[in-house]
Amino acid sequence: MIRDAFDAVRVRKNFPALNQKIYGKPLVYLDNAATTQKPKSVIDALEQYYSSENANIHRGIYYLSQQATNAYEGVRARVRQFLNARSSEEIIFVRGATEGINLVAQSYGRTYVKEGDEIVVSVMEHHSNIVPWQMLCDEAGARLRVIPINDEGEILTGEYENLLNERTKLVSIAHVSNVIGTLNPVKEMVEKAHGRGIPVLVDGAQAVPHLKVDVQDLDCDFLVFSGHKMFGPTGVGVLYGKSELLEKMPPYQGGGDMISSVTFEKTVYNKIPYKFEAGTPHIAGVIGLGRAIDYLNEIGMEEIAAYEEELLRVATEALGRVPGLRLIGTARKKSAIVSFVLKEVHPHDIGTILDRQGVAIRAGHHCAMPLMQRFGVPATARASFAFYNTKEDVDALCRALGKVREVFK
Ligand code: PLP
Repeated sequence: MIRDAFDAVRVRKNFPALNQKIYGKPLVYLDNAATTQKPKSVIDALEQYYSSENANIHRGIYYLSQQATNAYEGVRARVRQFLNARSSEEIIFVRGATEGINLVAQSYGRTYVKEGDEIVVSVMEHHSNIVPWQMLCDEAGARLRVIPINDEGEILTGEYENLLNERTKLVSIAHVSNVIGTLNPVKEMVEKAHGRGIPVLVDGAQAVPHLKVDVQDLDCDFLVFSGHKMFGPTGVGVLYGKSELLEKMPPYQGGGDMISSVTFEKTVYNKIPYKFEAGTPHIAGVIGLGRAIDYLNEIGMEEIAAYEEELLRVATEALGRVPGLRLIGTARKKSAIVSFVLKEVHPHDIGTILDRQGVAIRAGHHCAMPLMQRFGVPATARASFAFYNTKEDVDALCRALGKVREVFK
């Protein structure tokens, strides 16, 4: 039984995009790992900002600019609280998880990673947590080492420990896999890395919207996430970094706001976090992200996690009854993401037929081609859930998969 304490049907009403028909069928939106829909409060915050609060921040001496600055900096404080960071200066606004990882690769990486050094990632990483490290390794003459997984899609922790050595300069690991939903033991992994003095970046893109993430508890050195995957706007995200590391890192980009003084002889950089926020940021996006955090706080991350866990159980059971369906990724600890293949049907055909039934899922490699290779499939179909999904959505998914069977019998 799905917990009654959480009323997904009522919550859905706050998301205008969910209340529409696609090809005459009610939309069943199951592509939340790609991006989430937005609550009315977030949409309203964007409209309100552009209608009556729009001004550039930090430099204005007039009322509107000060209001916009307060709103922007107020969100930094709310993100700090949401992640339980020690200080707001540890919160850097970026475009999203991808930019956050690139910032660390270019700033921390180019400073501290030298020829012969190693960076450790896992085989289940999103390309965003592979390619920036490959670029760095190519430039520095360093090497990318890859943690293997078992057939269920779980990190082989012994293999991970074996990879750590005196050449390892950083571990960068997804908290939750965007393809198979595996919830990685990041706290234990951080502990192991720290035992050897190695910092750890956690890619929280698929974790922060779905469970309570506490950076002090994880003790990670960096963590990134994207606003659009947590019911906020696109084009905004966060890099959390421990202040002692951020202080030592050079700026990522140069420009306005990241300086305290400029002459042609010498530029003095601003303090953190501004040192890493060159140029006019996505002010409206940050304000919208703040509203999304308020929305999540109102529901409660523990409530969300418990509800989605139950939804995952229901979905896994229901999909297990679909003839010819093979689940890819059956880890013991998972977030509400299910990847699967159907015997003799290409995942893109599954996606197309489901779309005609109003069911939006994703088919493809999900920006994780090495993981596809690991499981020996070119692509999977993926349904990814959020707290506004219901058991009825799972039923609709299974009914639509029945249609796929009819077409391909
Ligand atoms: N990391 C993971 C685990 C993801 O799932 C994604 C997006 O799907 C990203 C990073 C990149 O996020 P963005 O494209 O918002 O920067």
